[in-house]
Amino acid sequence: MASDLQPAILEVGRALDAAYPSRTRNPLKAIDERAMALAATDQELKAALFRFVDVTPACRSLDDLARHLTGFLDELPERPPSLDMAVRMARSRTGRAALGAAAAAGVRHMAHRFIAGESPRAARGELRGLWSRGVAASVDLLGEATVSAAEADRYAARCAEALDELAEAAAASDLPAADANLSVKVSALTPLMRPDAPDLGREDAAGRLRPLLRRARELGAHLHIDMESLDSLETTLDLVLDLLGEEEFAGGPSAGLVLQAYLRDSPAELDRILAWARSCPRTPPLVVRLVKGAYWDHEVVEARQHGWSPPVFESKADCDRNFEALTRRLLDAAPLVRVAIASHNLRSVAHAIAYADGRELELQVLRGLGDELGQALATRGHRVRVYCPVGDLVAGMAYLVRRLLENTANDSFLGAQARGAPVEELLAAP
Ligand SMILES: Cc1cc2nc3c(=O)[nH]c(=O)nc-3n(C[C@H](O)[C@H](O)[C@H](O)COP(=O)(O)OP(=O)(O)OC[C@H]3O[C@@H](n4cnc5c(N)ncnc54)[C@H](O)[C@@H]3O)c2cc1C
Repeated sequence: MASDLQPAILEVGRALDAAYPSRTRNPLKAIDERAMALAATDQELKAALFRFVDVTPACRSLDDLARHLTGFLDELPERPPSLDMAVRMARSRTGRAALGAAAAAGVRHMAHRFIAGESPRAARGELRGLWSRGVAASVDLLGEATVSAAEADRYAARCAEALDELAEAAAASDLPAADANLSVKVSALTPLMRPDAPDLGREDAAGRLRPLLRRARELGAHLHIDMESLDSLETTLDLVLDLLGEEEFAGGPSAGLVLQAYLRDSPAELDRILAWARSCPRTPPLVVRLVKGAYWDHEVVEARQHGWSPPVFESKADCDRNFEALTRRLLDAAPLVRVAIASHNLRSVAHAIAYADGRELELQVLRGLGDELGQALATRGHRVRVYCPVGDLVAGMAYLVRRLLENTANDSFLGAQARGAPVEELLAAP
């Protein structure tokens, strides 16, 4: 099937590649990419960088920050010369202040690349900028895995406020209410998420998700439920399908969920979602956002610790092939579901566009990682949505570290693209 499509995939992929904005227009970003490339070549440096990024919000002073940084760098068996210089700087008090300030600015700059603002209101300018270019957005309130009911209540209240804020911002930009689009995480809606007792977490989260669905319906906004690690999958899927199957939600709001192609069981999950969609027809239809999955390292480590075989594909090519197979199944199932393909991989995206051949399709990218692809897609007239995390640096750490992991992984498409791999290689069948 995919081999017949190859000429069309190459045509779409080459046209998108030619539409990428010029890299030299954003020199700061090029600096970031060099730092990422350096970390990608050296596993110990990568580990030190992540531990440092993780500890940054907890540091009380620049001096403290510089001590942590040099502490991590000291552990490296071999340091590139530029980092050796940092360690030498940290020997004096003034040197430490300068190093701490530079490191704090570096982490803040890196975080700002991925995070649209401290609050939905602060991110309004970013949203207006996207909307004015014809690009849609989905806002995600950072802060996952709550540990108390009070925290879950606060997250639910912030989500309700964000829906109001987004609906107001969309109206102020003369956009339909459906452009107010919020992504939420179930692990933030309940402290009771446990794989051994899925009913407990589901019922607790339902008590907070139901009012959000009602609010979204009143406003005409879209609510999207993200997918997290495998231990929360059953709770999340049961919760979303049960709630959206309730009579009161048959006519809205617009809502969606996420399918992760790195999971070996994902074809069976899609069977379940499509069977549900057939038995619970709703207007508008459910949006299925297809992703590869952001918790690959976590799933592999977790499974190995228990002596289980990993639930995820262990070869990147297998994962990519499954992503393409699921893309085709989803597009063939429309309009039973609405399809959103979320990837920064030019091949995966070109495959979806070629297979859709003019059928309805939304393409989604993450702010900071998929900006160029998003611009190229919009320039070529495709429907694009940028996922925009919002929140402070402390809440954003887990998100930031996941994005850094992705950016520095050997198998990552963005890594191969940054290393200058030729477009034909990037577009080759997995
Ligand atoms: C708009 C948007 C929303 C998203 N929402 C979610 C979400 O709700 N939940 C979620 O989990 N993720 C989400 N993601 C992240 C997504 O799952 C991917 O992590 C990310 O997009 C990288 O995949 P890629 O296709 O862009 O890049 P690629 O470089 O083509 O793929 C990288 C991905 O391949 C997989 N992989 C890496 N190494 C291997 C290996 N050895 N064997 C098998 N597979 C491997 C991993 O999933 C890795 O993330 C979202 C992404 C976008 C763009």
